[in-house]
Amino acid sequence: MVLWETGAFFLTIEYNNDNLLITDINKVKAMERRNTMQKELTYAAVMAYPGHPSADDIYRMIAAEHSSISKATVYRNLSSLAEEGKIGRVESFAAGEVHYDHRTEHHYHGYCRKCGKVVDIDVSCDKGLLSQVNPMEDGFSITSHELIFEGICRDCREKEKENGTEGIKD
Ligand SMILES: [Zn+2]
Ligand SMILES: [Zn+2]
Repeated sequence: MVLWETGAFFLTIEYNNDNLLITDINKVKAMERRNTMQKELTYAAVMAYPGHPSADDIYRMIAAEHSSISKATVYRNLSSLAEEGKIGRVESFAAGEVHYDHRTEHHYHGYCRKCGKVVDIDVSCDKGLLSQVNPMEDGFSITSHELIFEGICRDCREKEKENGTEGIKD
């Protein structure tokens, strides 16, 4: 319940396991505003970032202008934005790396085995695949699929050429 309201003060008082809790609503609201702002900042950074940034890339981009934001906050916001479907999330099982994506519609990715770069692969997604595997006999219900193509990116191939260690030909 709101105990009293005098100008800037909004105090609530409540019992929680016999402990008296007095909360300054203004502080709570300011914190909520700050959380919302930090989440919007994280979203804007992913939208502005070309390609498929890692959580660390996004943290560094934000921290360059907002040095007070913590890494944990950025990581938490990225996870929650991805869960809400507002940004995409690409996981490379081979390398255990997570990348984020401003594109949210279903699409496939290519992964450079040398430098870990993630790129979009413009091939239409196989929508019939799910109906081919569903329903599975053991009751496992498939809800989505990811396809990651692996290879070596152009930068890495050029580096290999310079070093005379090119192993992959076109
Ligand atoms: Zn590469
Ligand atoms: Zn993508």
